[in-house]
Amino acid sequence: MASQTGTIVQESLEALLEDPSFLPELQGQGRKQAFTSLAAILSTPNHIHKSFLRIPMDNGRVVRIPAYRVQHNNALGPFKGGIRFHESVNEEEVTNLAALMTLKNALHDVPFGGGKGGVVINPRELSIKELHSICKKYVQYFSDILGPDKDIPAPDVGTGDREMDWMMAEYKSIRPGTPYRGSFTGKSIVNGGSLGRREATGKGVYFTFRYLIHDFLTTQEKWLANTDNPFAKTALSYHYKPLNIAIQGFGNVGSVAALEAYNCTHLQNKVVSVSDRNVTLYNSEGLDIPALVQFVTTNRGDLPKNEEELKQSGVKADVRDRDDVLSLDVDVLILAALEDQIHKGNMESIKANIIVEGANAPVTGDADKYLSDKGVIIIPDILANAGGVIVSYFEWLQGRETQFYTEEEVFNLLFDKMRTTMDTILPQYFGDPFPLRQNCFIHAVMKLSTVLFRQGKLY
Ligand code: GLU
Repeated sequence: MASQTGTIVQESLEALLEDPSFLPELQGQGRKQAFTSLAAILSTPNHIHKSFLRIPMDNGRVVRIPAYRVQHNNALGPFKGGIRFHESVNEEEVTNLAALMTLKNALHDVPFGGGKGGVVINPRELSIKELHSICKKYVQYFSDILGPDKDIPAPDVGTGDREMDWMMAEYKSIRPGTPYRGSFTGKSIVNGGSLGRREATGKGVYFTFRYLIHDFLTTQEKWLANTDNPFAKTALSYHYKPLNIAIQGFGNVGSVAALEAYNCTHLQNKVVSVSDRNVTLYNSEGLDIPALVQFVTTNRGDLPKNEEELKQSGVKADVRDRDDVLSLDVDVLILAALEDQIHKGNMESIKANIIVEGANAPVTGDADKYLSDKGVIIIPDILANAGGVIVSYFEWLQGRETQFYTEEEVFNLLFDKMRTTMDTILPQYFGDPFPLRQNCFIHAVMKLSTVLFRQGKLY
């Protein structure tokens, strides 16, 4: 488990151990023992599966590519989580990400456990034929442990609906007669995907930020103004004020979050900066996000990276170094790229007072502590980026019933679910001095502990 995740789970358990109103049935030595077994269950995955996929490459060579599926915990339902295609994938990373999925699903009351997959490749360097064989082989090698009631993968970094369609098709051929639609989520609409799934993570990311800084504050302003909670002070200092936003990452999550911010009429938002693997673009007047979205769709996902490409896109901006996005003088920073982006080495340069984790684990433990101590609001990954798995759940349900919802219904259900979670967590957050991540973890661990206790697993 990620050292940060592990530490916070441990701290959450300690807080719950001291809370006599939590699981009052457990007392004395028995209580201590149950908490020890809880810590053991949550800090280790149920299974780590590793295979070397044998893939014939276009140049005639046959290579063996490491691939993983980690099944962290299934107390709440089938294992669930994406499959990542990235050259830096490794066992520890996939295991950490699987643990985060367990907590994310528990936090939002999604009836799934946590899992994650990964293949050590750079998909940009491979042909469609090679990617297709990797997807098919992944399912062939792992078909025994996957399935609509066992473990349900979805897209993650480097994968999308094309890969999920290929994988579902392979699963269907290997297991004829099974209800194959629920075996993968994040599929294309024609193959049983859900309307709104592609946009769900980015929309959810923006929703959590907007709900915290606007909707919740508006209804709770009076008592918040009377607390001396440092995070309430930060939030209130931005209420009804114009906000400058910078977004790291302009893929499926960052670009949708940017569009949401651009189109939001509730707030006086300006997206002044976006970045990707090549550049940071900056314009203090605000960027033309729809024009940038249009540009990336016809340029292999890359933002304009020089004056000529900017001219082509019709967008006015300064071109800066890729990592400049992190240290700009903005109010809000949305991190929608990869993990470990804000760390000990750059945490002191961060100027934003609100950070939203669109990616999984983009802020390291040291940086999280340093920034939280300064009163920076960090909306953590398991709260902010759960839109994807929530709509995956709706996709799984729709696939079972072969009844499909409209896009409007999907987004209403998504926002209802996220609102319910926020309404549970935010009063605690603004009422006590713990950072939001800690509150979310305590809530998720509490849910998992209760379920495990009632299943007779804590002895
Ligand atoms: N990969 C996404 C995540 O990290 C989505 C997982 C899913 O839909 O199962 O939350």
